[in-house]
Amino acid sequence: MSSDATIKKAQKLVDSGCVSKIEKDLFQIRSSSNPGKSYFVTSDSCECLGFKNYYKFHHGNGKTANCSHLEAIRIFIKENSS
Ligand SMILES: [Zn+2]
Repeated sequence: MSSDATIKKAQKLVDSGCVSKIEKDLFQIRSSSNPGKSYFVTSDSCECLGFKNYYKFHHGNGKTANCSHLEAIRIFIKENSS
């Protein structure tokens, strides 16, 4: 399950146009806190620290890593699929 804060942040990234589709299943998201930085994201992986640390913090409990960027991709795909 995703937290409301993550969803809110994700929606903000989409609304402010930070998400760009590069190719099928590859997206680039500009960082909201650091405009010079961007992350490459696919539908199930992200290169941000939050995603990488997720497995460190939740190791072995069967959860799938998540971050605001992955949520932003899901929102972006949903909004652009109709
Ligand atoms: Zn991320």
